[in-house]
Amino acid sequence: MAYVITDACIKDYICASECATAAIAPASAGDPAAAGLSQLFINPDECIDCGNCASICSSGAIFAEDELPADKAQFAAKNKAYFN
Ligand code: SF4
Repeated sequence: MAYVITDACIKDYICASECATAAIAPASAGDPAAAGLSQLFINPDECIDCGNCASICSSGAIFAEDELPADKAQFAAKNKAYFN
């Protein structure tokens, strides 16, 4: 299981800067990949399930995959797809 970022993300990059495994991308506003994206994503293959990002997210955008609200369930696949 991994944590998942949803469309409530406001791209403040706090989670990306705090993630111990660099699982969150783009990593900063200066990353060229950030242009045009509406949110950040978590790589499920890199996430160690610590929950730190969810606890510090200012917009309540991050959930454990098995705790995603029903209307946000599609974001598990969207996060994974970003890294494929
Ligand atoms: S749960 Fe931990 S390892 Fe996974 S993305 Fe969040 S801060 Fe990184």
